[in-house]
Amino acid sequence: MEMQFEKITLPGLDDKRPLVIAGPCSAETEDQVMETARDLASRGVKIFRAGIWKPRTKPGGFEGVGSEGLLWLKKVKAETGMYVATEVANQYHVLEALKHGVDLLWIGARTTANPFAMQEIADALKGADIPVLVKNPVNPDIELWIGGIQRIYNAGLRKIGAIHRGFSNYDEKVYRNSPQWHIPIELRRRFPNLPIFCDPSHIGGKRDFVAPLSQHAMDMGFDGLIIETHCSPDYAWSDKNQQITPGALDLLLDDLVIRDVHTTTEDLGDLRKQIDVLDNELIDLLAKRMRVSREIGKFKKEHKMTVLQAARYDEILKKRVEQAEAAEMKGDFMLTVMQAIHEESVRQQVEILKAES
Ligand code: PEP
Ligand code: MN
Repeated sequence: MEMQFEKITLPGLDDKRPLVIAGPCSAETEDQVMETARDLASRGVKIFRAGIWKPRTKPGGFEGVGSEGLLWLKKVKAETGMYVATEVANQYHVLEALKHGVDLLWIGARTTANPFAMQEIADALKGADIPVLVKNPVNPDIELWIGGIQRIYNAGLRKIGAIHRGFSNYDEKVYRNSPQWHIPIELRRRFPNLPIFCDPSHIGGKRDFVAPLSQHAMDMGFDGLIIETHCSPDYAWSDKNQQITPGALDLLLDDLVIRDVHTTTEDLGDLRKQIDVLDNELIDLLAKRMRVSREIGKFKKEHKMTVLQAARYDEILKKRVEQAEAAEMKGDFMLTVMQAIHEESVRQQVEILKAES
């Protein structure tokens, strides 16, 4: 389905890259909201975010202050002149947010993964003229992400953007949510005029990652950033490890190098960055493969099997060579790669045999 999007903007905003949305993960108290908002406004931030209804992984945690927080957002608008944004996950949230003059809405990763919820939200948004940002679903499914965007589009909205917030991963060690940059890059390829924001806070899960991930997003040509910012991050009621202070945000934005999208997407620097990212993913995958190998090693040990199972090894080599050739690589190259991987895998299995006997 073809879609033509409009820019994400609000009256009076310039169209410099990145468009920044900042504010706490959650609205906690009126004081926390106002203190954070005043500081951000004084540093030139134009759009304030705060979660009012919080989707938490487990029950019993802080699930958001609810509609009362919308009154605090009204106060933020009145006092600082910033626009305000919040997350909606059902029809009630949409109606409440629209009624209270929220300027921009985003849809959370758990919601995008649910077509029923997306349709309910789209139906509630019919006829509204408000920018809506759709986070990627928690699972790395680009079709589900596009489908969510299409539902909002079919409701007549045109100021739609995507937020890349990473994908949950059982095994991820470094990031809270694996960036899998190739997915938003594919989204851009398919819908070149769909604005894409990056949420480095939820990808990284740690304060230290927010700046490098923001830079990477800018280098990928993304349009905006949504960054969790809290007046006292250590005391935040949700996501405290990833929130930064307004002062830290200011420094981060000052240090960002913004390259011209049209002259740099092709340049060597960007291509090298892509290679770095892909190599990181390769290393992660290899580490996962080795873990599975060690499991196999344990099984073989328990069942008194030899580490080297020649028939299986031969079958793997043949299959991978064929696959490589089908993917336009040389069979010989794949043979070398698989032999090296197999060698390390055998070495790790032998270590298991030695360690426990
Ligand atoms: C959030 O933005 O605070 C949030 C809940 O994000 P996500 O849907 O990406 O987990
Ligand atoms: Mn959060």
